Amino acid sequence: MQLTWPDRLTGLKLKLGRDPTLGEMLAEAIDHTMTPAEIEAQRQSYMRAMAPCEHGVADFEECPQCMPGRTARVAGLKIVEK
Ligand SMILES: [Zn+2]
Repeated sequence: MQLTWPDRLTGLKLKLGRDPTLGEMLAEAIDHTMTPAEIEAQRQSYMRAMAPCEHGVADFEECPQCMPGRTARVAGLKIVEK
């Protein structure tokens, strides 16, 4: 049976006895083979990210309706209004 990414993270947490750091998760990811379901989820996520938002703006982060106030945090980086 192929391990899913959540299964691998659970195993890593048990082995460490704590939540893994980002570096530890990245090291674990090197050995992970994505399941067909994970590949499909990633494909769909990529397609959503590349498609215009429902308001027709190519980059949803530039859409005032999708990102009112531009205060969202993305990947730990604060988006600052220009
Ligand atoms: Zn939008």
